[in-house]
Amino acid sequence: MKINTYGFKSPAVAIVGCVHGNEKIGAEVIQQLESTLKIDSTVKYVVANEEAMQLNQRFISSDLNRSFPGDRYGTHEEQLAFALSNELYGVDYTFDLHSTTAQTDDFIITVGNNDLAQHYPLKKVVDMSGFASGVSLIENVMLGIAIEYNRSTSADQIERQVRQCLVNLGLLEGSPGQAQQEKYRVYGILEESPMNKDLTLENFVETSFDGEIFIPILYGELAYENILCLKARRIE
Ligand SMILES: [Zn+2]
Repeated sequence: MKINTYGFKSPAVAIVGCVHGNEKIGAEVIQQLESTLKIDSTVKYVVANEEAMQLNQRFISSDLNRSFPGDRYGTHEEQLAFALSNELYGVDYTFDLHSTTAQTDDFIITVGNNDLAQHYPLKKVVDMSGFASGVSLIENVMLGIAIEYNRSTSADQIERQVRQCLVNLGLLEGSPGQAQQEKYRVYGILEESPMNKDLTLENFVETSFDGEIFIPILYGELAYENILCLKARRIE
């Protein structure tokens, strides 16, 4: 795990990338921000799973984003989660950058109500309460969001969004700006089955299957084995 910390004033911000080793965009964004971002607050840059990154794998022995709060003597990822929990202790705002193989609009992930999401300049906010079980990174920090990017969003675009969020938080100079947000809540999963194997879904577009109306989220994410998509409802 590579951790570089700059400054010592509060509030403290952490930018975390490569929690999943094959989602390298996070490391790219970190590299760009690290060489150019100048703010008065503490900034911590974390490239989380370097070993998995080198192998271009999601993880080595277990999904890091399902391994929190971690275990000092556990698997590679449990040890990383343990170290990362300690590292992020006392950090005010944590941004966890991910990318997805799904064809989807970029979106923010929260678990429960979250005061940070409203400052991040993306339109879609997905509350994963119905899917999360306390073992993800953002559930183990003071205030954090994960951001899920599709494969066509560039590091430059992401960098601009992180900067705009820091402006919106009053940590960086500039004019505040935020999009009107749409909120969704995940309430379940649709498992792959012979019944739905020919189904084609579109993320964030309400659909009906087997008598149930829902909004698919992360349909097309290859890392979710046996899961066709998450099921959500629009809440705001
Ligand atoms: Zn990820």
